[in-house]
Amino acid sequence: MAWKLTKSELDQQNLLINESLLSLGNGYLGVRGNFEEGYKEDFKSIRGTYINAFHDETEITYGEKLHAFPDKQQKLVNVIDAQTVQIYLDDERFSLFEGEVLSFERHLHLDKGYSERIIHWKSSNGKEAKIQFRRMVSLVTRELFALEIEVVPVAGVTEVKIVSTVNGDVSNFVDKNDPRVASGHAKRLTVTEVKTEGSFSIVKDTTYETKLDVACVSFTDASGNSHVERTVLDGGVEEIYTFAGEAKVTKYNAYTDTLRHGKNVVAAGLKIQEGLKGKTFADLLAEQKEYLDEFWRISDVKIDGDQHLLEGIRFNVYQLLQSVGKDPVSNIAAKGLSGEGYEGHYFWDTEIYIFPMFLMTNPEIAKNLLLHRYSILDSARQRAREMGHKKGALFPWRTITGQESSAYFPAGTAQYHISADIAYSYIQYYLVTKDEEFLKDYMAEVLFETARLWVDTGHFRNGQFRIDDVTGPDEYTCIVNNNYYTNVMAKHNLLWAARVYQKLKDEGALASYTAKLGLTEDEAIEWQQAGENMYLPYDDELKIHAQDDTFLQKERWDLENTPKEEFPLLLHYHPLTLYRYQVCKQADTVLGHFLLEDEADLETIKNSYDYYESITTHDSSLSYCVFSIMASKLGYKEKAYQYFIETARLDLDNTHGNTKDGLHMANMGGAWLAIVYGFAGVRVKESGLSLQPSLPKEWNSLEFNLQYQGSLISVKMDKEYVTYSLVEGKSVEIQHNGEDIFLESGKEVLM
Ligand code: BGC
Repeated sequence: MAWKLTKSELDQQNLLINESLLSLGNGYLGVRGNFEEGYKEDFKSIRGTYINAFHDETEITYGEKLHAFPDKQQKLVNVIDAQTVQIYLDDERFSLFEGEVLSFERHLHLDKGYSERIIHWKSSNGKEAKIQFRRMVSLVTRELFALEIEVVPVAGVTEVKIVSTVNGDVSNFVDKNDPRVASGHAKRLTVTEVKTEGSFSIVKDTTYETKLDVACVSFTDASGNSHVERTVLDGGVEEIYTFAGEAKVTKYNAYTDTLRHGKNVVAAGLKIQEGLKGKTFADLLAEQKEYLDEFWRISDVKIDGDQHLLEGIRFNVYQLLQSVGKDPVSNIAAKGLSGEGYEGHYFWDTEIYIFPMFLMTNPEIAKNLLLHRYSILDSARQRAREMGHKKGALFPWRTITGQESSAYFPAGTAQYHISADIAYSYIQYYLVTKDEEFLKDYMAEVLFETARLWVDTGHFRNGQFRIDDVTGPDEYTCIVNNNYYTNVMAKHNLLWAARVYQKLKDEGALASYTAKLGLTEDEAIEWQQAGENMYLPYDDELKIHAQDDTFLQKERWDLENTPKEEFPLLLHYHPLTLYRYQVCKQADTVLGHFLLEDEADLETIKNSYDYYESITTHDSSLSYCVFSIMASKLGYKEKAYQYFIETARLDLDNTHGNTKDGLHMANMGGAWLAIVYGFAGVRVKESGLSLQPSLPKEWNSLEFNLQYQGSLISVKMDKEYVTYSLVEGKSVEIQHNGEDIFLESGKEVLM
């Protein structure tokens, strides 16, 4: 149940949304759910194929450009289109917008990893056929996007013609009126090679500035056709297959790029095709199913009691798998590989919202995300220098390969917290895996360099360490002193850096860092002191942590009397207007309380929740899940559930109104967090893995698995008990509601 997403709308608005919802991907390659044959003439479609991290650079034009504003912006590029296929019944072109649609179904199979359209169509002149499209982006061979098209004539058809193209003359989508979408630079690729070689159609494109190559080497199996024509056009290759009656065409497209395949992308594509020889579409689907069986065995979340929400969470987990980069060249973009919103950039969304799901279910994928950040550490060091810091590393707010791509610094570069967020995820990784090698090879350096940044950014005043002029997660309040979230995360970062320093010192393993980073003992002492004395703004009257030094002195925005059409506020008010009020786009202090709950007592956390909830618009999709998690912690069960509903189906129901630009990946990870960290109360700290479960009353049961220190643990919550069992790996101790429990193989523990 709930393994299939079904959509059969044909109206403009839903089709655009469905292009995102039915997108397919594997972390390397992503293809939007466009119709192979296209739409009506005046229909808007965002036709897209993307390769994670495959990008060009465009110039940022400023009216007034100040020092260290980035010159260039990276941009995910829409690459060669291999999805286009036209079908002719005799001379009539098939289109769902002409003739008569006798039946139409469309599905995305979350357990099998493919999508399909099943159509019964009659042309205006009475020619009738059953048509089926199936497509998949392989989770086993990352370069492969395959399509299978079957046409079975029913009445009046003597000849079926299939016209299939590989087109390199493509552009990106632009929208001048939405800051969340690119506003210019639509065309970023030139076609640099088009040819046929044996039975392959080959198109190569090159980006304008970065000079990266992408190739699509395509092979079509059209056995049974009576006639073939292949034509090399200006921007691509066209293949025409003619069948006397029933037609079946399978198109295997191999996408290669410079970032992974080196200089000769065409040769690499041909090699991939060589490896695919003899594999049928059915074989590919079988491989796909095998991969997904294993993925779901570990990562499924089973909700008994609400099919709608079960569909939501499975869809989210599936889309995260489809979008997450699985090589160190790539990370996970804010919209994954499902659209062009936020231009394929990686944000803190990765670390705080998405990483935890992979860490607790597929730690190898989580590790790759960290390795990607490690790979851009040098750029982060360089960015810190540009920003005037003598030492340390400042991670870019939005980027693909490390270069800061944020043009609006108050809600971009000023979000220094991203460096602490990255440090936080390294620490979480270590706590879950206890991977000592990883600590030495990567984590120590990241922690040291980010700790250096904090010491260089902040300063001591009256014995307290303060951090001025930064922006916290809430983008409706920018450039402030002592943002609670930033300070508390920096504190964690600093104290952990000092501890790791001490640990390596005790193990006699410091020499390499001293040599490489010029690290001194005095620095570690400074980290300790800054961390211990970090100033965390607190308001005695309200008994809450203040979002920053001046936030609580501002006027409160009148949310109640703001018309519905004015949300999200960012599309209707100048930023300065927003900055002058107490109004939050998203969880900020409340998020700090979630990530580092031991930094405040429960009463403060509760007061903060109540206070900030009343002034938060949730205009960012990164917000609901945090409020759901914290509502669970505070025993606000009804609210926890309501916020969870908002997060679980945000894209499926297009509640933010911009799903057409791509899926909201952070929210999708957040939905998983709202279940596992919210309803099940999971936390990972130095004291170990703990749970504090509380099943929503609407559900009969909830089941999920956790990977922890190499063991796989199953958790089942029902109305009476929580049942823990060890599925794989060695015995392990965890905590349930503060009580230690020991999990060993073959025994269930009922609590
Ligand atoms: C949010 C940021 C987020 C970005 C990308 C913005 O709307 O405010 O926190 O990183 O979207 O998802």
